[in-house]
Amino acid sequence: MPQSSIVAIGDELVGGFTVDTNSHWMAERLRLLGYPVKRVTQIRDKPGEIMEQLGRELEDPDLTDVFLSGGLGPTPDDRTFAALAEALGRELVVWDETRARIERRVQRMHAMGLLESPDVTEGNLRMARIPAHPNHVFRNRRGMAPGALYEVKGKRIFVLPGVPMEMKGIFTEEIEPEFLTSGNAATVRELRFTFAVEARFYPLMRDLEERYPDVSVGSYPNFETKELVIRVLGLDPKRVDEALDVIRRKAPV
Ligand code: ATP
Ligand code: MG
Repeated sequence: MPQSSIVAIGDELVGGFTVDTNSHWMAERLRLLGYPVKRVTQIRDKPGEIMEQLGRELEDPDLTDVFLSGGLGPTPDDRTFAALAEALGRELVVWDETRARIERRVQRMHAMGLLESPDVTEGNLRMARIPAHPNHVFRNRRGMAPGALYEVKGKRIFVLPGVPMEMKGIFTEEIEPEFLTSGNAATVRELRFTFAVEARFYPLMRDLEERYPDVSVGSYPNFETKELVIRVLGLDPKRVDEALDVIRRKAPV
């Protein structure tokens, strides 16, 4: 069974400057595609901390796929590829195809008057340096930083840019159709109870946990709408519907 983890990399995320919308978006896509997420982690742009986290992901036997986002940019504070190279014990190499694409993009932007010089800067070129022997390099039609895929210890590591539009573009256009096609999405059903007291659902939920270990049941109060959402999720639609039926019949409202 596929199971994923997400690692969002960026000082601005951990510092509370930027909301980590990438992880939220990916977690939903991955659930819908049948590659559900076990854990989301946010870390800083510190090579040592990126390596440490990568080690944790690679050692987790539950995981088949790891998604990293952020820190691929042109500035020295973008360190994801360097840290990944070190963690994998590989050299950083200039990926020619990516370099050529960056050169064409810089020239195009110069022709449009968006850049003063048609020459590729050191910063631009930095983005074409990736750990050696990728299993796949993504094109990224919306930006310069490439994405890449590495297969290590039986897991796939997907590396994506942090810019949300670029990350989503690569994910939907290049990763989903080719690499995320064999998942089995969970069935999700919800019941909503207005003015329900959450604590009163405790015995019912305990009972369901025992009788339906293959189904997960969560309760999520919404304080704005005054609704209690009971969300039931599982791989077997029949079991999910059965559990839902029990809740409908026995809800303490
Ligand atoms: P690029 O090279 O295309 O700029 P990058 O990988 O270097 O991409 P970052 O420099 O880390 O990306 O971030 C670029 C922008 O995207 C920043 O404005 C950053 O705040 C935003 N960003 C990064 N990670 C996330 C995230 N997880 N959720 C939302 N926004 C993010
Ligand atoms: Mg960054």
